Amino acid sequence: MFVTKIAIDLGTCNSLVFIPKKGIVLQEPSVVAITEPEKRILAVGEEAKSMIGRTPETIKVYRPLKDGVIADYRVTQAMLKHFIQKAQGGLRIFKPELVISVPAGSTSTERRAVIGAALSAGAKRAFVVKEPILAAIGAGIPINSSQGNMVIDIGGGTSEIAVISLGGIVTSNSIRTGGDKMDLAISEYIKKKYNLAIGTQSAEEIKIRIGTVTRQRKEDFFEIRGRDLISGLPKNLKVSSNELVEPLKGVLEQIIEAVKQVLRKTPPELSADIMDKGMILTGGGSLLRNTDKLIALSTGVPCFVAEEALFCVIKGIGVVLENLETYKKSLLSKK
Ligand code: ADP
Ligand code: MG
Repeated sequence: MFVTKIAIDLGTCNSLVFIPKKGIVLQEPSVVAITEPEKRILAVGEEAKSMIGRTPETIKVYRPLKDGVIADYRVTQAMLKHFIQKAQGGLRIFKPELVISVPAGSTSTERRAVIGAALSAGAKRAFVVKEPILAAIGAGIPINSSQGNMVIDIGGGTSEIAVISLGGIVTSNSIRTGGDKMDLAISEYIKKKYNLAIGTQSAEEIKIRIGTVTRQRKEDFFEIRGRDLISGLPKNLKVSSNELVEPLKGVLEQIIEAVKQVLRKTPPELSADIMDKGMILTGGGSLLRNTDKLIALSTGVPCFVAEEALFCVIKGIGVVLENLETYKKSLLSKK
């Protein structure tokens, strides 16, 4: 099969690739490993992620989109090329058309950089669409209705909050806080409380296994391994879910503040719709236990986690790609 259209969710943590009629064909970490000082690309995706925290001085592992924008153009281009080639397999006769998601808060310069990287990675044409709209489509929200809908996408490096009505974004807010900050909060807590240094990968594992933002009656425990900062030697430690509430809540409070700002700017008619229907949570960060409950409690607005929260954006771009002609005028942008 000739692949002529490709959709890419270029996330700060994970990138996903969708091809019409095939579905999601690729899900890989947005990570690139580079040799120093030659700056040769050594590995992309899963292979590069497995090198994090384990590299000699001659290898640097990057997350080029860490804060939601292209921090390193050349590395992003290499990553896109890798995804395009993998998606196309051996058949590379046609240059594909690409649709790529970008944060709603990205500047036109940043969006042009994404398009430029896509073109130089081998795309015939490239379009960008704002993430919250895609997240909404992927969560099954009828975005073209005149009803107001609110989406909160909590990713790795960024969180995006938007109110959508009649196919467009009415109010929005993007902050550079998400799952990464939660990992950091956990490792800082463990360092301070137990004098134990742990890697970012371990912190993420603790978060996913037992992390919660409200106390649980029945606690969960997880054993981690780190380096004792006093003796300098490896040490094991059992962590409980309830002790993580405080550090994780600190991060969520920043997201909640951003949500409140959007609610304050939302026209009353749309606020009433949102109060009726609730806010929809998407993105990997929304899977942190009780995140929906805490947001609902703090804002007074009902809150639900979308089905397959990690896949909403890519499912949304998939829908756009399969109906390219319909969406070309309204959603797609070349800058
Ligand atoms: P992005 O779109 O920015 O690449 P994703 O939506 O893929 O981000 O979400 C990645 C973030 O979600 C990471 O910080 C990851 O640790 C976090 N995450 C994934 N699954 C879970 C889970 N079950 N509980 C808590 N956090 C999770
Ligand atoms: Mg995302």
